[in-house]
Amino acid sequence: MRLMTVACVLLTCLAPIGRPAAAEAQPPNIVFIFSDDHAYQALGAYGSYLKEVVRTPNLDKLAADGMLFKRCMVTNSICGPMRAVIQTGKYSHLNGFIRNGNRFNGNQPTFPKLLQQAGYQTAVIGKWHLGEHQAPQGYHYSEVLIGQGPYYNPPMLKDANGTGDNKQRSKEKHHGYTTDIITDLTLDWLDNGRDKSKPFMLMTQHKAPHREWSPKPEVYETWKGVVIPEPKTLFEDYGDHGPRADQEMTLAKHFSRGYDDKTRNFAPGNLTDKQKAAYRAMFAEENAAFEQALPNMSEEERVRWVHQRYLKIYLASIQSVDENVGRVLKYLEDNGLADNTIVIYSSDQGFYLGEHGWYDKRWAYEESLRTPMIVRWPGVVEPGSVNGDIVSPLDFAQTFLDIAGLDQPDDMQGRSLVPVLTGNTPDDWRESHYYHYYEFPSVHQVNRHEAVCTDRYKLIRFYRVDNKKRPGHGMWELIDLKVDPLEQKNFYDDPAYADVKQRLKGELKRLRKKYQVPEADPDVPHGKY
Ligand code: CA
Repeated sequence: MRLMTVACVLLTCLAPIGRPAAAEAQPPNIVFIFSDDHAYQALGAYGSYLKEVVRTPNLDKLAADGMLFKRCMVTNSICGPMRAVIQTGKYSHLNGFIRNGNRFNGNQPTFPKLLQQAGYQTAVIGKWHLGEHQAPQGYHYSEVLIGQGPYYNPPMLKDANGTGDNKQRSKEKHHGYTTDIITDLTLDWLDNGRDKSKPFMLMTQHKAPHREWSPKPEVYETWKGVVIPEPKTLFEDYGDHGPRADQEMTLAKHFSRGYDDKTRNFAPGNLTDKQKAAYRAMFAEENAAFEQALPNMSEEERVRWVHQRYLKIYLASIQSVDENVGRVLKYLEDNGLADNTIVIYSSDQGFYLGEHGWYDKRWAYEESLRTPMIVRWPGVVEPGSVNGDIVSPLDFAQTFLDIAGLDQPDDMQGRSLVPVLTGNTPDDWRESHYYHYYEFPSVHQVNRHEAVCTDRYKLIRFYRVDNKKRPGHGMWELIDLKVDPLEQKNFYDDPAYADVKQRLKGELKRLRKKYQVPEADPDVPHGKY
């Protein structure tokens, strides 16, 4: 009731002078700000062990004005596949984009197409990462990076008239820092690109903070001398846990950025001479000190140095994302759009910042399973609220359709978050989440696995996909977050967990049926696993 009152006040009292009342009756606009690989530990409002050093004031303010989701779980912790899930509202095995390298079929139903048909102005600007074989479908305007896209001077593919026709796209050259450029294009579309008589849905999607974590020199300068807290599991012993021991994503052995002779002075290849000089200069002093100290460093000290460097370039890249989130919020405010615009911030999945000794993502463990999610909806979402329900990017498509007052296709597999956002989570809201990661063998060599995740437990099944003898293929893992929040113990064979194990196995079976998961891995033609 109170929220209704706030909404009425907003509609009647805060409408800009001279603006027709009918404009306020429009369905809300949606601004979806998306980043790549932004770990929740690196977002201040999440209050992690890094909170003292993380610099995300604009995102923290967005959380203070909106709702922060503590348990937003991805369905397949990898870049392209999660973008396909968001477009379609369907799991990877049904939308066909199972792992990076697959081709997204843009001819299938997606939420932007439905919003467009209903009269919304739609745009996607920034990282797309669903392939260049087809222009984004369902948008009045798209201007997207090619593949992963670089941190500087990005060429972009523009579909100025929203034809969806690949042949109609132009290749645009840009000079400068990609995070800033994506925002420049975003503000330009808001200002000049759309039909202002209609509601809009805008996806502004950053490349950052995906590797190679190339910060702006003037931002990195402010991180020198900062000491980053270490995670408790930086030096984890993997013991006899096959898949954990048999991966290629440790800071100790696999992180090749910023510390070895080959990459210490790395500058992105497409920089101008001036940019290159500034880029190299930002690391020069630290690198020289490291080089001098290296001969006398223990292996542990070296890993600690790598962790510090990694976190500083990662957090500095996020600082620029946050500054640009601030620019978008300011534009909405300055142009009388803030009150009738829902702003959502999220990332395609989480990331390891040294936890378990790792970088990268992929696993069903917390840091890569969970992704940040903040929603500001003036007059509807209680400012400063924190939600602990199990939600997922699988829900975004239906949520956006519901916000627009549209029907949700029966075959979408998520659920609208609108009641959750109003503080009225339905009694029958999900209590478990189905997860499935497929990209193996591949970069980082994280074993294929599926999982059922609840508030407290995770049952994970690692399975084999070939005839090679790989340790841990076929193993099960049972995590108890209450007893072991750092996820270092496997309770699968513990008799005390026999009932929990049985219950979760039943739940896994139920979810596989509910989500129509094929019996055999659809990515493995012979189905052997
Ligand atoms: Ca990603």
